[in-house]
Amino acid sequence: MADDHLLPEMIDLWQQTLSWQPTTSQQSQFQQLYELILAGNRQLNLTRIAAPVEFWEKHLWDSLRGVAMLLQEASKTKQQAIDIGTGAGFPGIPVAITLDNWTVTLLDSTRKKMAFLQTLIAQIGILNTTTITDRAEALGQQSQHRQNYDIALVRAVGPASVCAEYALPLLKIGGLAVLYRGHWTSHEAETLPNAVEQLGGVVESTEAFTTPISYSTRHCLYLRKVADTPDVFPRPVGVPAHQPL
Ligand code: SAM
Repeated sequence: MADDHLLPEMIDLWQQTLSWQPTTSQQSQFQQLYELILAGNRQLNLTRIAAPVEFWEKHLWDSLRGVAMLLQEASKTKQQAIDIGTGAGFPGIPVAITLDNWTVTLLDSTRKKMAFLQTLIAQIGILNTTTITDRAEALGQQSQHRQNYDIALVRAVGPASVCAEYALPLLKIGGLAVLYRGHWTSHEAETLPNAVEQLGGVVESTEAFTTPISYSTRHCLYLRKVADTPDVFPRPVGVPAHQPL
């Protein structure tokens, strides 16, 4: 692989920002991930983020920043996680590489992307992931998936209340949904708690931060499931996005 496709290691930056740093084997898996995504981009429109430093910041760092608070204690316990609308595998694949005690289910409704991801995870040798091609609304009504996960990750899939309707039915009581957001408006902050409450959750915390290289604005919302989600949620395919709570 040419030098211009070599990911930076950023050991100090990982340590300063997340109090964590990748092992040599994780770094090598990140590099393989980057190369396979670049190659996949020639056939599939996977990501417009192609330069190594940008890939490091916007895909690797951003994916792990959402679970920063779990990198220490939860890394030691087995957790069932699901990445809803994973696309090219973010945040789910960096999380699976980093937290190898977790099992990470990668969910997306686009068959081509999931076929690509299946090959990619086999090539990198990531053993703790499974892939599902389906809609989050359908999965949330299936007994083997409903109330089955400890952690749900959702990045760039739609408005926050839509992401909440996808995520909360899939969580066990006590489980955590992490919504990765860019900007976060006061209107969203006012309306989200009511939607989350209808789904059996509470907005536990909101973190605002900037990314460490380009200083882009980001927010992470942490929703805790505290009660059963009523059977009507998630509503049928397409309804959450067209009529957000
Ligand atoms: N999470 C990735 C990221 O941040 O790079 C991909 C984001 S991409 C903008 C949104 C993805 O969500 C698409 O791949 C799309 O197919 C998927 N998606 C949207 N709605 C979905 C749903 N209801 N169920 C499953 N996947 C969905």
